[in-house]
Amino acid sequence: MEETKIIDGKSIAREMKEKLKTEIEVLKKEGISPKLVAVQVGENEASAVYTKAQKKNCENLGIDYELAVIDKGLSQNEIIEHIQKLNQDNSITGIILQLPLPEGISAVEVQSSIAVEKDVEGVNPANLGWITYGKPKLIPCTAAAVMELIETTGIDLYGKEAVMVGHSDIVGKPVALLLLNKFVTTSVCHIGTGERGNLPEYVGKAEILIVAVGKANLVKGEWIREGAIVIDVGINRVEGKLVGDVEFEEAKKKASWITPVPGGVGPVTTAMLLKNTVTAAKAQYHR
Ligand code: NAD
Repeated sequence: MEETKIIDGKSIAREMKEKLKTEIEVLKKEGISPKLVAVQVGENEASAVYTKAQKKNCENLGIDYELAVIDKGLSQNEIIEHIQKLNQDNSITGIILQLPLPEGISAVEVQSSIAVEKDVEGVNPANLGWITYGKPKLIPCTAAAVMELIETTGIDLYGKEAVMVGHSDIVGKPVALLLLNKFVTTSVCHIGTGERGNLPEYVGKAEILIVAVGKANLVKGEWIREGAIVIDVGINRVEGKLVGDVEFEEAKKKASWITPVPGGVGPVTTAMLLKNTVTAAKAQYHR
């Protein structure tokens, strides 16, 4: 068997950002200026790590960035009203909602209020719906990153067998739909599959395996089909170290391509947010 190749998310992300930087320079000359606003409800330490990174990434690329921290005591309707104001501001081309939200506020209800064309995280139900119709506009960043990572292997997707482990609304489900749109035969596994003991059987069928669960080493290397492409979305902290959902060292012996954790899906997800921000800005100016 040929040696397993590591899919280097960091260098893929770096290349994507370089391309975007050049593209933004050109767009600005045409009068198109992307501006991203992150809405955060109340102060939140976990969120601060993300928003700091977002700001730095945007600044490096020439995207205007603003963090709007709004009062924790606001009702869901008041938060929605705030977002509607941002929707109406033509200088703002992208909006993201930082999670978590205070208790009692529904993330999906608030996300639904983000204008579809400014929804750079692809979390508005309309953007998820467009994927169902095979006409994606703004795709959830992690799902888009998974597709990008698969495509960098150069595999011809038509008719291939894929297994998506995890059926979350913004990773598992959209990835499954995106694969279906490419005529990949796609199985989706979840807790029901795991608890019934059927995970090894499904995993064993996958020429393309994507795992987004959040349980360290859930997927055993020995289950993996010889030559499979393995995309590990999971992020777990074990004894102070970050690991994925797949037993990396064992899986490497079977896979043809595999993403590491960290350094696989994560950096490409971050780059996808920037790419979506540019896509959204272009679409709004060209309307
Ligand atoms: P989630 O937490 O919303 O859902 C977990 C999924 O795993 C569900 O579909 C559940 O049914 C399934 N599951 C749970 N136990 C299982 C088992 N024993 N067998 C089979 N399936 C099982 O999912 P999420 O929000 O997509 O997050 C999943 C993981 O991906 C987390 O570790 C998260 O941190 C990570 N994540 C990473 C990125 C990134 O950019 N790298 C982005 C998003 C999420």
